[in-house]
Amino acid sequence: MSEFIFDWGENCEKILNGEGYTTSKNQNMEQVALFRYLMDKNYDKEEIFEIWEETGGNILRGVKENSEEKQFIFEKLFNKALKWTMPPSNPIYIYQEEIDIINSMIVLRWIKEYLLTLLCVYKYYNSEWCQYNDKLRRFCFSVNSQRREWSSLGAKLSDCVKKYKPYDMFIKNGTLMLKMNITKSDGEVVETIPNPSHVQELFHLIKCEKVCKDCGKTFSYSSYTVNSEVCASCAKKRLYKLQYKCHKKQ
Ligand SMILES: [Zn+2]
Repeated sequence: MSEFIFDWGENCEKILNGEGYTTSKNQNMEQVALFRYLMDKNYDKEEIFEIWEETGGNILRGVKENSEEKQFIFEKLFNKALKWTMPPSNPIYIYQEEIDIINSMIVLRWIKEYLLTLLCVYKYYNSEWCQYNDKLRRFCFSVNSQRREWSSLGAKLSDCVKKYKPYDMFIKNGTLMLKMNITKSDGEVVETIPNPSHVQELFHLIKCEKVCKDCGKTFSYSSYTVNSEVCASCAKKRLYKLQYKCHKKQ
C-alpha cells in the first residue's frame, strides 16, 4: 500500500490501535492530525503527550526520555495542531454509467483499475482540476494488480488515454493537473466508498469483455487475448478450418 493518506480520522484510529504511522519519513503531518483528532475528542494536553509517547514514531525514537528536546518537539507539533482543522470526509458515489464507460474500453484489467482509482481520487477532491503528482501515481499503481509502476506501463496507459480520452491533463505553474472526462453525477449509484483507499472494494465491478466477431457472443479476455477478435471456441474453429485447407492443398 502506498503512503497516501486520504482520511485523517481513519489514519489517527490506525495509529491509536498501535498499527503505527503510515508515512515512513516525515511523520509531522500525521502527528499534527493525531493531536487535533484527540483535541476534538476533548483530551487535554497532558493526556495527548502521554498518548503521543506510546505511538513510537521516527521523531520519538531519536530523542531521550524526559529530555527538553522531546518537550520542544511536542510543543511545536501541538501548536501546529491548534491551528489545523480536520478536513471533512467526502464519501465517493460511483455511478453505473461510469462503470459502463470503463468496461466498454478494450484495455487490460490493470488500466481499468487505474482509471477507476483516478476517478475516485478526482471525485474525492471534488474540484474541476486535481493535482496529479508522483505520489498520486504511485498510489494508483500500488492498489491495482500491478502493485508498482513498471517502465513499460506508461506507454500502455497513454495508448488508452489517446484512444478513449478518459481524462485530460495540463500543466499549470509547473504542476500537472488532471480532469476526468468519465465522471457522472446522476443516475444509479452502484457503490459508495468513504475515500480512495477503499477503491479495491470496487474492482469486482470491472469486466474485461468483448463481442466475438464470428458467433456474436460476449467473451472475457485476458492480457493474452485482449487483441483477438474471436472467442476461444471460434478461435479453435478458425484454426481447424485453416488446417483443413492446408491439408487439402497438400
Ligand atoms: Zn465466438
